[in-house]
Amino acid sequence: MSGFVSLVGAGPGNPELLTLLAKRRLVEADVILYDRLVNPALLMETNAEKIDVGKLPHHHKYSQYKINDLLVTLANEGKRVVRLKAGDPYVFGRGGEESQYLKRHHVDYEVVPGITSAIAGLGAVGIPITHRDFASAFHVITGHRKKTGEELDWQNIAHQEGTLVFLMGMEQLAKITSQLIENGKDPKTPVAVIQWATHWNQRSVLSDLANIVQVVAENQIGSPALIVVGQVAQLMQALQPHPALFGQHILVPYKKQSKLFGLLQDAGASVGFFQRGETQPVDFALPKLSVPATLFVNDIIAYRYFQDKLMAAGADLRKLADWQFIAKNHVVARHLKSSGIVVDRVADLASTSGQPTYVIGEQRELADMNPQAAVHLLATYRRLPAEQDLDFADYQTIVFPSSASVAELVSSLSQDQLEALRVLKCIAMGPKVAEKCHQVGLNNVVTVEPSYQAVLTVLKEAKNVDKVSNSHR
Ligand code: SAH
Repeated sequence: MSGFVSLVGAGPGNPELLTLLAKRRLVEADVILYDRLVNPALLMETNAEKIDVGKLPHHHKYSQYKINDLLVTLANEGKRVVRLKAGDPYVFGRGGEESQYLKRHHVDYEVVPGITSAIAGLGAVGIPITHRDFASAFHVITGHRKKTGEELDWQNIAHQEGTLVFLMGMEQLAKITSQLIENGKDPKTPVAVIQWATHWNQRSVLSDLANIVQVVAENQIGSPALIVVGQVAQLMQALQPHPALFGQHILVPYKKQSKLFGLLQDAGASVGFFQRGETQPVDFALPKLSVPATLFVNDIIAYRYFQDKLMAAGADLRKLADWQFIAKNHVVARHLKSSGIVVDRVADLASTSGQPTYVIGEQRELADMNPQAAVHLLATYRRLPAEQDLDFADYQTIVFPSSASVAELVSSLSQDQLEALRVLKCIAMGPKVAEKCHQVGLNNVVTVEPSYQAVLTVLKEAKNVDKVSNSHR
């Protein structure tokens, strides 16, 4: 069986700036070879083997030859291989060379285009690459030539009408600006430099050809960055978006179509996921349904496994018509409601004392409970520990929607990761969750009401406090 290679564009950084086809290829892949500039958040939803072939500017991890060779070897093993590259694979990404190599070795391949940083990176700071008043063309140029000694045609470049965008140019910034000026470009031409465009740590400066080198040095802007030369750059002043949570890098538990992810991203934050372990059903004996009692639902997943068991026994919800339903909190109550059950109460387990009660929940969580005599614990599922391939030092805040998410994450971390996690601000959705954070040694905790809106509000408030304290410095 022969495999297949997809050269896939990952877009400029923001994990939502990905094509639908790229997303599908990532999910379907057996193995993914990815670059240094690729946002690791893109790799969360796939079970593929992941190989970091990221090239650091001076000490290459994988040589281009080795990458080419690996692509061919993996494809010949029959694998679906994704070669994930920043931006668009055919814009300075060596995608052309890889295609030629694959073709020569008779390996089937395709190219999945991506949004190039050379255009979208400018848009991220409010610079339109063309504009009827300022630029009717754009030129994307590499600041890093393949063969040493080979010079760009500076005279030609300096006389082009339109916007000049240099990629891989930061080490050559002084040379680029001086060559443009020497070859006739006005030293007052606006220049913007944008580092890590659309990533959480995006930074940008605006100056002109004569002064940009100094401004970049003062602000300590480095690679990877885009150098934008032309009148359009000045539009950054008026058009740069300033979303409320810009620059915030926030971790949330992984969930497909996570509402929290969407809310935070829309407010300008960059959101990463930590993995939740897989769930597995646990065998348990259904209570005697003909004897009415109380069903205490600890979490909605537990309920789903309970329902599966009910159906497998040839019964359905009607058998529980005389039962009382209690949800542990409003979130569980809401989920139950969307499954067609209006709970009798939202309450603490302690408040159910005296009545025969069946608590359904996750195995490990229930094991921590100390119920009274009339309370029976039914673990309907267990969660396996997940591996966290995360650098916590890259984040500022983590959101915990449930005590289970705290316990699971902490139990899945190495000692070093745990130390790094302790430094983050933890937003606990509800006092119980905060209690769990303290219990496991996380002390930088802010407690909010258990609603996503409350999480958003507290993050915005914290950002405003930061702004005020910065302005007093
Ligand atoms: N294929 C990529 C470019 C690869 S060359 C694309 O289409 O975007 C690598 C260079 O791209 C970096 O040195 C930098 O100049 C630029 N680059 C890529 N992503 C960037 C980003 N998010 N912010 C700023 N520059 C970026």
